[in-house]
Amino acid sequence: MAEHAIQQKSLLSGRVAYFTESVIREMTRQAMLHGAVNLSQGFPDFPAPEEIKRAAQEAIAADVNQYAITWGAKNLRNAIARQMQLWQGVAVDPEREITVCCGSTETMIATLLAVCNAGDEVVIFEPFYENYGPDAILSGAKPRFVKLRPPGTPDGEWAFDERELRAAFHNHTKAIIVNTPNNPTGKVFTRSELALIRDLCVEFNVLAITDEIYEHILYDGTRHISMAALEGMRDRTITINGLSKTYSVTGWRVGWAVAPPAITDAIRKVHDFLTVGAPAPLQEAGASALGLPASYYQELAEGYRKRRDRLVPVLTEAGFRCFRPRGAYYVMTDISAFGFASDLEFVKYLVKDIGVASVPGSSFYNDARDGAQQVRFAFCKRDETLDAAGERLKKLRAR
Ligand code: GLN
Repeated sequence: MAEHAIQQKSLLSGRVAYFTESVIREMTRQAMLHGAVNLSQGFPDFPAPEEIKRAAQEAIAADVNQYAITWGAKNLRNAIARQMQLWQGVAVDPEREITVCCGSTETMIATLLAVCNAGDEVVIFEPFYENYGPDAILSGAKPRFVKLRPPGTPDGEWAFDERELRAAFHNHTKAIIVNTPNNPTGKVFTRSELALIRDLCVEFNVLAITDEIYEHILYDGTRHISMAALEGMRDRTITINGLSKTYSVTGWRVGWAVAPPAITDAIRKVHDFLTVGAPAPLQEAGASALGLPASYYQELAEGYRKRRDRLVPVLTEAGFRCFRPRGAYYVMTDISAFGFASDLEFVKYLVKDIGVASVPGSSFYNDARDGAQQVRFAFCKRDETLDAAGERLKKLRAR
């Protein structure tokens, strides 16, 4: 259809004017276009575990090929409940408190659609995973940002100011989104930080929507604490997680929300009409995945620790100031030493002339200026990939 015909009668929803397409996904396309080493989008370039691939193949062969129960296959829900109890000490009723969706991405938007009304506010720490902003807008809510400030030293922690957080809460606040371990900063929220958030949620009658997709990817002895495990939070927390990062199957699109029954009812309704259900055979495979032994999770974290410790020195050597992540598989860097006017210019130069794809810092901030001297690298990649990126980044020094 001609552009002018669309504009004339405003054939588009006003909602879409308030956000852009994902920059993270765009950077993967740019990497392919320029033949660059892709350290932008967070997906592993190494194989998923054999046993879970086999479980998926077997499920298809056994004809688990029709719709699963809309809110999730029973086996998978049982496995999720079992693991929530085991890992976080949180008792969950798989019949009434779990909704399986198409990835944690759908889970987050379905959750926000289920709880938000126009005029509600959602508190979001920034830098934030870029979906949260558009998710809030699509659900009719207004995002309200609270800064996580970078540490002054490479080994310090990103932190929020308690007073700023308090100032973000008021009568219209419906929810706060907490992503721990955090993308893009690698911050792992401590018990005392979560307790501060808890106190505000209770005082202002606010929900916590927690994205815990990097739950098992932890370094330096940090521990993941689920908000739902904090006293007073079980009834006002929606815990979001999924198979993608823990089992290296980002393309399977299986995620879930754990929430009290009344909230689960609302999420299930939205989810049903959005997608009906997540892929049935992959849900069965997910049930086996959740049964992998404890050693699997230790090896997963240790593998990523090694990759972090392989990439961070290479970036530092190339001139980046790295903020050492404590969890998840990204490293945020400061690029001011390179003298570029903006992260966008720098990232473009990096992908075209150096041959390495990264994500511009501004895509994690509401105000692009805040991220203008930051760039994110993903290290969920094979050693060869990280080394190839390292070779190319040497050209930066010589520039
Ligand atoms: N979480 C991943 C990232 O930040 C990507 C997820 C996605 O693209 N759906 O790169």
